[in-house]
Amino acid sequence: MHRNRRDPLAWVDDELAALDGAGLRRRLVVRSGSQSAQVVIDGKPLINFGSNDYLGLAGDPRLAAAAAAAIEREGWGSGASPLVSGRGATQAELERRLAEFEGTEAALVFASGFSANAGIIPALVDEPDALFADAKNHASLIDGCRLSRAQRFVYPHCDCDSLEQMLRGAGSSRRRLIVTDTLFSMDGDLAPVERLCELAEQYNAMLLVDEAHATGVFGELGRGVLEYFEKTTPVPFLIRVGTLSKALASGGGFACGRQSLIDWLANRARTYAFSTAQPAATHAAAIAALDVVLQEPERRRNLLARAAVYRDRLREQGWNTGQSASQIIPLYLGDPERATQLAGRLREAGFFVPGIRPPTVPEGESLLRLSLCTHHTPEMLDELANALCRMTSE
Ligand code: PMP
Repeated sequence: MHRNRRDPLAWVDDELAALDGAGLRRRLVVRSGSQSAQVVIDGKPLINFGSNDYLGLAGDPRLAAAAAAAIEREGWGSGASPLVSGRGATQAELERRLAEFEGTEAALVFASGFSANAGIIPALVDEPDALFADAKNHASLIDGCRLSRAQRFVYPHCDCDSLEQMLRGAGSSRRRLIVTDTLFSMDGDLAPVERLCELAEQYNAMLLVDEAHATGVFGELGRGVLEYFEKTTPVPFLIRVGTLSKALASGGGFACGRQSLIDWLANRARTYAFSTAQPAATHAAAIAALDVVLQEPERRRNLLARAAVYRDRLREQGWNTGQSASQIIPLYLGDPERATQLAGRLREAGFFVPGIRPPTVPEGESLLRLSLCTHHTPEMLDELANALCRMTSE
């Protein structure tokens, strides 16, 4: 430890000690092997409830074969940003396929979902504009909002009445943009997208929806929550964002919408213009995943049906699962120490279930985050429910 007063980095040790004291310090672990129902974490095999590989495609040989073929064809590195020379034929094909999949005119692929949000929002609004953001939006949306210089209004989680009041008060701004997750990543609940579309229309606002956790899982064709609520008619003021990194088991993020919007983002989203494109292999794996999503709809249907039954079972056991309506099931505990302790005991019992604490969730809302995937067998789900039962009755 550096206790020297003249050490300008000494504050880091103090801050880490404070995190330790508050039970909020995170430790990095090492996973060996691929993401699947079983993972090896720090050398210990565990049943995995901590992955966003919702459709069980991360270890699918079809994705690996597509990636290998792309490496043969195009080599590994992409060499430059997509705007310069990094947009290879496979990225162009993925963008075409994503637009087709999403039913939009065009799509644009970013190096990650985080960088998509961090680049898109500042490309849409600036100082004379106003932003309206759900209080529980993902960090990448929050940072995108911060990077834009627009005036920010944060409305209470899913509270459309408060949003409407804020929209009413911001009539003089040049442009308005509403920003929301569609499936909230820690709470597993769904945004009121129908009402948000109505409000956007009524108040002449753009609407950016982040379908990161819903792509491939929700909706008849797997497009996400908007499709699930049958918002299938094209909404001209909509900017749809998603990731290739969760159900699509690859890497990268994307935006889709009308052609002019995508052209504008290619020109003005700084994270698109100034960040090297992902290798072609990553794009090829995402294309293979899109094929699976289209060809095997039973994956998403079974997952959501099973999640609904499991949620009920956990509620009957006395767990507070909040408003979860998806494959993400939070078990709210409140106290961060309790979340850490329970996650540790589950790990000893052979389960990987992340404990989520501030700042990822607000103070008082620490939780265990169960992420259900198609590869969980009924036996695995039983074992976890029984272990949770044992731990609360001891
Ligand atoms: N949006 C949401 C809602 C997310 O949960 C995440 C990732 N956790 C991202 C964007 C970022 O996506 P990526 O991991 O592909 O950078």
